[in-house]
Amino acid sequence: MKHMSYHSACSGSAWKRFLSALFILPLLLTLGSCDSPSGGIGKATSSAEINKKFHWKMVTTWPANFPIFQEGAENFANDVRIMSRGRLDIHVYAGGELVPPLQVFDAVSQGAVEMGHGSPYYWAGKVPEAQFFSSVPFGMTARGMNAWLYYGGGLDLWREVYAPYSVVPFPMGNTGMQMGGWFNKKIESLDDIRGLRMRIPGLGGKVLERAGGNPVLMAGSEIYTALERGIIDATEWVGPFHDLRLGLNRAAKYYYYPGWHEPGTMFELIVNQNKWNELPDDLKQIIDVAAAAVSEKIYAQMEYYNQAALEQIRANKNIELLEFPKDVLDELQRLTKITLEEEAAASPAFQKVYAAYTSFDEHYSDWSNLTEESYQRALRE
Ligand code: CA
Repeated sequence: MKHMSYHSACSGSAWKRFLSALFILPLLLTLGSCDSPSGGIGKATSSAEINKKFHWKMVTTWPANFPIFQEGAENFANDVRIMSRGRLDIHVYAGGELVPPLQVFDAVSQGAVEMGHGSPYYWAGKVPEAQFFSSVPFGMTARGMNAWLYYGGGLDLWREVYAPYSVVPFPMGNTGMQMGGWFNKKIESLDDIRGLRMRIPGLGGKVLERAGGNPVLMAGSEIYTALERGIIDATEWVGPFHDLRLGLNRAAKYYYYPGWHEPGTMFELIVNQNKWNELPDDLKQIIDVAAAAVSEKIYAQMEYYNQAALEQIRANKNIELLEFPKDVLDELQRLTKITLEEEAAASPAFQKVYAAYTSFDEHYSDWSNLTEESYQRALRE
């Protein structure tokens, strides 16, 4: 019925005269919208295909109701449902509801579910070079990541890396700059890092280990108790908003910045390649556009809620907000380079992504220093 009314609206001659008077008709004809509803975006599609409904499942790595992240996945599904007029109906499952959080990639890869939402560094054990598409220590911030992924060849490379697993990735969210974490003692020199038991995953953990610390792996739900009981001396999590929700301010006194280990962690929407191939072009386009919109909104939410939570932290006299000493950051940065180069030497796949990332990062830093950084300095000084 929708198809019929579409045609009758297009063929009404009075309507056509009205549109052409507004110089819109040439545009409509160019797009071929009356002859082929899918015109302009690919091959002609039959009406049976156009009306076909898809009921998909998306599994995420986030706990149920986890603010901003799980919400973002649900907002995406809702946007797609509305824009596709219900033709693509995605049911979102939080981590553990259908699939354990760290098995999301495998579930999508095997086609057990059609979609997933998480962050590429969760699959570092299987695909170490995926970490560059999340965040690496002393790497690019959200602005640089967006530029690299969308226009600097990063997304093409990411898709190439996931292709052997039949998984198609899309950027979908960024945490923005994270915080350095909560410490139960002050970090005044490199000596204070030695022997430090800190919950810090991934490459950041490897760098901490090189600096003499003891990285500890631990799920989010265990962090508060471990820090409060002294099982660990420090932890990183995300930023002010999520950290306060976890109550970390009640488990440690010193809150350090910046989050050198995660300067802008990217999230991903992942889609099973075969399921993706089954979709008509307009639904593919809806997914692509909705993912980009949700990506921007998650990043904006992070910036908004973190600045609001920072106000609370500043007002709390029991929290000391401290910057890592420069010599500590310099040494962590030096050790990061050694760590990345060692990983690259051990794996051609890692080397390839590392080289592409570093090359873009160097050019982007030049531009960023000249503009954003110099502007920030001008505001401060
Ligand atoms: Ca983190």
